[in-house]
Amino acid sequence: MTRQSDPREHLASAKTQAVLRIQHRILIAVREHLREQGFIELLPPIIGPVTDPGARGAKQVDIDYYGHRYKLMTSAILYKQATLLAFDKIFFIAPNIRLEPLETAGTGRHLTEFHQIDVEMAGASRDDIMELLESLVRRVIEETLDTSADTLGEVGRDTAALAKALLVPFGRQTHSSAVGRLHAMGHPQNSDAEIDWQGEVRLASEAEQPFFITDYPKGSRGFYDRENEQQPGSLRNFDLLAPEGYGELCSGSERENDYATIVARIRETGENPAKYAWYLKMAREGIPSSAGFGIGLERFTRYIAGVDSVWQASAYPKIPGEPSP
Ligand code: AMP
Ligand code: MG
Repeated sequence: MTRQSDPREHLASAKTQAVLRIQHRILIAVREHLREQGFIELLPPIIGPVTDPGARGAKQVDIDYYGHRYKLMTSAILYKQATLLAFDKIFFIAPNIRLEPLETAGTGRHLTEFHQIDVEMAGASRDDIMELLESLVRRVIEETLDTSADTLGEVGRDTAALAKALLVPFGRQTHSSAVGRLHAMGHPQNSDAEIDWQGEVRLASEAEQPFFITDYPKGSRGFYDRENEQQPGSLRNFDLLAPEGYGELCSGSERENDYATIVARIRETGENPAKYAWYLKMAREGIPSSAGFGIGLERFTRYIAGVDSVWQASAYPKIPGEPSP
């Protein structure tokens, strides 16, 4: 589907308006659910001396901050860990900027400006946070089906398929078994990397419920995802994929909070720890252990509304490579 690059055409379209109304309901349900579980919403920073280096393949954007090179946030992960110094259960609705490679312009899954529902919880295990994520996604599906049936109808969503997501608990498979399944389908997936988006489409096309992929290999993710002590090389992390071919909605993990291990992990990724001075000082003085996740809001909206592309789930879409307002 080609995108409407004219803002009037896009914003005045009945379809855009319906999708944005669905997104509004999603945000209401997310905030209610997290508030009921004791989470506090904070407003995230947009710039900082460093940002998440784990934005695979995407370029960061530099700005001149009074003679210092600062970054626009590719994700709020470092600040999520910092915020646990104030509160045990926190979330942001955070804007992210990633200059994604040009070849992602047509995937329907990549914008250069998007938002994450970014949640972090002190003392949580991977199971705790996966349980919270599953309950949150279920709540959003239930509430949109309840409150927005007409709007879902307007955008042509197959609501029976959406309702099927609620029938059984979300399944789980490890990264290595997902790679095995893809190889069996003849898809050339690299076993040391994240599942590529074409592979995700294939796995997600066979699914009727959202499902987790766990235990991604070290090197495929950021230094902040905790390594499994019992299984070195494998991380205590996960993705949640949406069914019906939609693919990745969310990535999450238990976090590394040991100072020496964080420094070693940063070095392993080829980065200079000195760049992360504020974060490492904080880690040296002590940060809580935690687990958390980030759900892409436009991807979540795309799945719930059943539209082809994430640009349809943004009021001001920016597609990689395309100049836009
Ligand atoms: P990541 O840290 O790369 O796992 O990103 C967290 C979540 O943000 C992903 O699970 C997606 O839902 C979403 N996301 C990441 N990159 C993009 C993008 N370029 N456009 C839209 N959503 C994205
Ligand atoms: Mg991810």
